[in-house]
Amino acid sequence: MKTIGMIGLGNMGSGMCANLLKAGHNVRAFDLNPDAVTKAEKFGALGTSSASAALAGVDVVVTMLPTGQHVLEVYFGDSGAVHLAAKNALLIDCSTISVEEARQASSFAESAGFTMVDAPVSGGVEAAASGTLTFMVGGNEDGFDRARPILEAMGKTAIHAGAAGNGQAAKIANNMLLGISMIATCEAFNLAEKLGLDAQTFFEISSNASGQNWSMTSYCPAPGPVSTSPSNNEYEPGFAVDMMLKDLKLAADAAETTDAHTAFGALAKATYEELSKAGYGQKDFSVVMRQIKENI
Ligand code: NAD
Repeated sequence: MKTIGMIGLGNMGSGMCANLLKAGHNVRAFDLNPDAVTKAEKFGALGTSSASAALAGVDVVVTMLPTGQHVLEVYFGDSGAVHLAAKNALLIDCSTISVEEARQASSFAESAGFTMVDAPVSGGVEAAASGTLTFMVGGNEDGFDRARPILEAMGKTAIHAGAAGNGQAAKIANNMLLGISMIATCEAFNLAEKLGLDAQTFFEISSNASGQNWSMTSYCPAPGPVSTSPSNNEYEPGFAVDMMLKDLKLAADAAETTDAHTAFGALAKATYEELSKAGYGQKDFSVVMRQIKENI
């Protein structure tokens, strides 16, 4: 059992906090939003009114924050984790941030005498609540070994992706693939329908043929074939367009830095930018089906 300082109790962090408590850890929880702290208290966390109070003397810090700027501030700001956590505490950032920021954070942590891992997640709010997230972990072997039992309390799998920042690299490459495959799946359903196939028939064929992919079989963007898909619930998220856009922007920036060819990634980013500008930022990212079919 560890004493964990958990910062960021939003859509994802709330469920993750509850699962750390279920696994028997002591959790000191802080979020800028007092309602999120009250909710964590209901799960059994010790809610605090400042980040400093949540971080003082803890064995482990877990963060689930919106951006890299928030992460750097919470760990390395004037009253950041490196000034307050116990000596040799393990620092685990689960937010999605840039590879560059994750590497910078790891290097700052090391200079301050701490081990830090980047451990972004695959899986959305439901997976966070049910403890079935997948963690992609960047950091040294020791950091991964120490982080694994904490991560396994919040997820089903933790995979070591290599050195610091590699967790974020895996995350943005994976989500770029997801963004592209979702759009491709929507185009295929639309074309098949225009050629006279209904969604169910095309699904039965393509999900058993070489076009099969996760966006089709687990998250079908055409209403009907997969009952749990957001397409059967007015495209309520799920995984919002703006979240996908955030990840595609991180991928585009990383591609520019590394001179990687990501032409389809750029097209996917433009597609989600258009949807966001048109007011669909809070709809599920599979709403691209409606954009293609109905030109919303
Ligand atoms: P969210 O906006 O619901 O939660 C973030 C929380 O952080 C908010 O409650 C906010 O008040 C809090 N916060 C911000 N700055 C803070 C600070 N300085 N101190 C304390 N609290 C602070 O976001 P989310 O959906 O929970 O996502 C969190 C991270 O997880 C993001 O990096 C996101 O990209 C990533 N992610 C989200 C999903 C998803 O489906 N929502 C899936 C995978 C990864």
